[in-house]
Amino acid sequence: RCGYVAIVGRPNVGKSTLLNHILGQKLAITSRKPQTTRHNMLGIKTEGAVQAVYVDTPGLHKNGETALNRYMNRTAASALKDVDVVIFVVDRTRWTDEDQAVLERVQYVTGPLIVAVNKTDRIEDKAELLPHLRWLAEQLPNAEIVPISAQHGQNLETLEQLVAERL
Ligand code: GDP
Ligand code: MG
Repeated sequence: RCGYVAIVGRPNVGKSTLLNHILGQKLAITSRKPQTTRHNMLGIKTEGAVQAVYVDTPGLHKNGETALNRYMNRTAASALKDVDVVIFVVDRTRWTDEDQAVLERVQYVTGPLIVAVNKTDRIEDKAELLPHLRWLAEQLPNAEIVPISAQHGQNLETLEQLVAERL
């Protein structure tokens, strides 16, 4: 099996960190500074009979005021088309207008959608996460929701398994 997997989400949620961890190599540029990734980046992960082509996107911005923002929005939006699986990366609890804007786009994705709730390593009490997970499930009833830590590699096997099943 083989297919394309788009990684989308607002800037700074950890999309590039996730791709780097999945690939086990530094490919996407990660930084505290948003907009580091300006172009869609491809990474190929082959495991047994499954080959997944991951597309790391520059992040969807709420308002495309600048030419660069508009370019990045177009680039990220183009990654949503013609892919087999979409991974929507969000922060563990923090929800912003930019997340909302991405949510409104991914709601129209017809294929499999996985919401990766990232940076769970920052949560002391896991119960804190539950209202957010419940709310996400209500917003995106067809999505699979997985808490992860891209940086610490937590729960990434589960995420990759979900992807593999949907290719
Ligand atoms: P992107 O803009 O969505 O591609 O985000 P990046 O991958 O560049 O990450 C943005 C920042 O969040 C960086 O400083 C990362 O080190 C940090 N980060 C990413 N994943 C995690 C995580 O699982 N836990 C924590 N604590 N920080 C993370
Ligand atoms: Mg990035």
